[in-house]
Amino acid sequence: MTEARQPGFDTLQVHAGANPDPATGARQIPIYQTTAYVFRDADHAAALFNLQEVGYIYSRLTNPTISALAERVAALEGGVGAICCSSGHAAQIMALFPLMEPGRNIIASTRLYGGTIQQFTNTIRKFGWSTKFVDFDDPAAIEAAVDDDTRAIFCESIANPGGYITDLDAVAAVAKKVGLPLIVDNTSASPYLCNPIKHGATLVVHSATKYLTGNGTVTGGIVVDAGTFDWSASGKFPSLAAPEPAYHGLNFHQALGGMAFTFHSIAIGLRDLGMTMNPQGAHYTLMGIETLSLRMQKHVENAMAVAKWLEADPRVDYVTYAGLDSSPYHDRVARICPRGAGALFTVALKSGYDGCVKLVNNLKLFSHVANLGDARSLIIHPASTTHRQLPPEKLAAAGAAPNVVRLSIGIEDVADIIADLDQALAAASA
Ligand SMILES: *Cc1c(COP(=O)(O)O)cnc(C)c1O
Repeated sequence: MTEARQPGFDTLQVHAGANPDPATGARQIPIYQTTAYVFRDADHAAALFNLQEVGYIYSRLTNPTISALAERVAALEGGVGAICCSSGHAAQIMALFPLMEPGRNIIASTRLYGGTIQQFTNTIRKFGWSTKFVDFDDPAAIEAAVDDDTRAIFCESIANPGGYITDLDAVAAVAKKVGLPLIVDNTSASPYLCNPIKHGATLVVHSATKYLTGNGTVTGGIVVDAGTFDWSASGKFPSLAAPEPAYHGLNFHQALGGMAFTFHSIAIGLRDLGMTMNPQGAHYTLMGIETLSLRMQKHVENAMAVAKWLEADPRVDYVTYAGLDSSPYHDRVARICPRGAGALFTVALKSGYDGCVKLVNNLKLFSHVANLGDARSLIIHPASTTHRQLPPEKLAAAGAAPNVVRLSIGIEDVADIIADLDQALAAASA
């Protein structure tokens, strides 16, 4: 007997979740632009609503195009299931929703996407949830911040915007010790560069808006469940491991085991919060993922060359790219993201806040946008844009000081990227 071969990443990114369309034989996954699905008969409808049979009811819950994307990303991340959502921010709420209740809190890294800091600081308070922000380079501080009401630990693998890499093994060890799920936002790395589940993550969240789609056409998000967390062990997760009043008293963990989180998120999260992805968006993201590994290799290769060039330039104060020997996080690359440190980093200019504004205004190939993970090279000045609502101490902690710009290096010819930076730096320093 031969053992079943485990397909590699490049095969999965093209094939996972994609069977020829049963109705037409279409090789590419059709865009099922439909709201509802006809039940075979009343028994079939009842079985679907009882979760006794898997099938399609209504596209706020599930849709074949979107299911294909969920299956593909789950395969690439090494999870048992995934839920597609309307945005990365929606994915974060969807990840927390089954775990939380009013009065509960999460422990989150200080180094996060600016929008996430905002969501976790202010907006989630409306649900009665709160966040304690901690320096995740200090595992003892994470552990010390945990209290009886803590329900999750949250960080990014490669943190936006500063070229920081989280020691996921150390953080996962704390999560395991205190019996809490670890949620990792893997947007900036993509599953090609980092697989948080291999390092002990319970849930992985993505903004599919970024590298997964890869061309700035879609707003989407995904939550992947490792399927490994024991929701029943602590008694802290009644929505998942006690009779759930929102679903006629079903105990999801008892009934569905490792699929409890995924089914809860569809049956209750998508049903009642409605943060659903649309089939067109799922189609674009599926197309993007087919070339994910090829794009990420080129993103990393270009980012490395640009970071080295900038670091050697006298107009530049410093470059925070974990791919550089000078980075304090360089040692973590081989262990956490062995295929490269991503393509997102910050550059501090000697010409300060004004120099950053001039640089942004003079670049021609780079686009000045509040986005990252596009095929195009992008730039933003966090202190005057994405991070402008943060107080000064949080700006510094998030790696977004006033003289810092964030670059998202694209897949253009690297010589053209460098030439553009060279002319704009000349203008910025003039
Ligand atoms: C963009 C981004 C988000 C939010 O995603 P949206 O799709 O814009 O809602 C969350 N986390 C990270 C790391 C991001 O880059």
